Amino acid sequence: MTALAGIIARRIARTGPMTLADYMAECLLNPEHGYYATRDPLGRSGDFTTAPEISQMFGELLGLCLAQCWLDHGAPTPFALAEPGPGRGTLMADIWRATRGVPGFHAAARIHLIEASPVLRSAQAQRLAGAPVTWHDRLDSLPEAPLFLIANEFFDALPIRQFQRAGHGWREVVVTVESETLKPALTPPAPLAELHHRLADTQDGDIVETCAPARAAMAAIEARIARHGGAAIVIDYGGWRSRGDTFQAIEDHAFADPFAHPGRADLTAHVDFEALARAAPALTHSALMPQGHLLAALGIEARAKALARSLTGAALDAHHAAFHRLTGAQEMGTLFKALAFVAPGAPLPPGFAPAKAT
Ligand code: SAH
Repeated sequence: MTALAGIIARRIARTGPMTLADYMAECLLNPEHGYYATRDPLGRSGDFTTAPEISQMFGELLGLCLAQCWLDHGAPTPFALAEPGPGRGTLMADIWRATRGVPGFHAAARIHLIEASPVLRSAQAQRLAGAPVTWHDRLDSLPEAPLFLIANEFFDALPIRQFQRAGHGWREVVVTVESETLKPALTPPAPLAELHHRLADTQDGDIVETCAPARAAMAAIEARIARHGGAAIVIDYGGWRSRGDTFQAIEDHAFADPFAHPGRADLTAHVDFEALARAAPALTHSALMPQGHLLAALGIEARAKALARSLTGAALDAHHAAFHRLTGAQEMGTLFKALAFVAPGAPLPPGFAPAKAT
């Protein structure tokens, strides 16, 4: 058992089976042994790679997208340029560099980063040295100001609960201890008001997931944008009204058993974008866009060609590979989705199509 597995097993012995959300939170954020608390998991030497780490094009295009959106909203001054879960700070650093030439943007922007990990906070401080950055533990403490926010692979890291349909009720997936190892188990079925709307599209045995911290994060974003204007862009893997078990562990770039090495593997779940939209009813949202379509609409081909002109040999090959990784249907282009939120009547960020009327 890892040290953290021992801590979790003792807690279960004391207080009974744990929800997956409590288990995930402990594995990711335990101050001494938690995955994010203790390391920089990103990049080739870490466990996983994200779009901003693959190519600077991702942050450049989204930076210009946010800046154009800010202009379309009347260039409010000052405003909060915010990012929850900024990792190494690469996305925000690319956004900041790409928007240098947008008149008034840097003078009006105050960068707000929401980050739980001390290790990653110091990486972000290095990447963004000289920029006006404030750190927060939670989205609730964002200032009362117009908000232009981007979240890439943040929501997938938030703790989920899992429920299995049983008649008109739900059994919850919880974590127990069996012969010294952590194992999933099911509670007896009970009705659950929160999942009432899922009785229509599920059958006995189906798994659905809920994410209370995602709802809280969306409520904080909704409150700022509804009161002061702005836009939020969420990019992540997942779908609209997700169904099924998407709880997964990644260790050394490979899938692992999420109960085997608590604290050593990254634990995530797919993002249910419909649940995000339901948590922000005062905002209008765009259509859910595949990442590849969004990047194409933002002009990634032209940017890729321009960058390619100064590259040769292995660097040029890597650049082409990065382009395909970000946009390819078999790669991140389809699995990853983007959803934008604005106040009703306000223009969507460039590249985003309006949601179809239902
Ligand atoms: N957006 C970055 C990093 C994604 S990894 C990129 O695209 O490269 C997830 C990020 O969310 C990390 O920075 C992690 O420390 C942070 N994080 C995870 N859970 C969090 C929480 N509950 N509150 C704040 N930050 C969190």
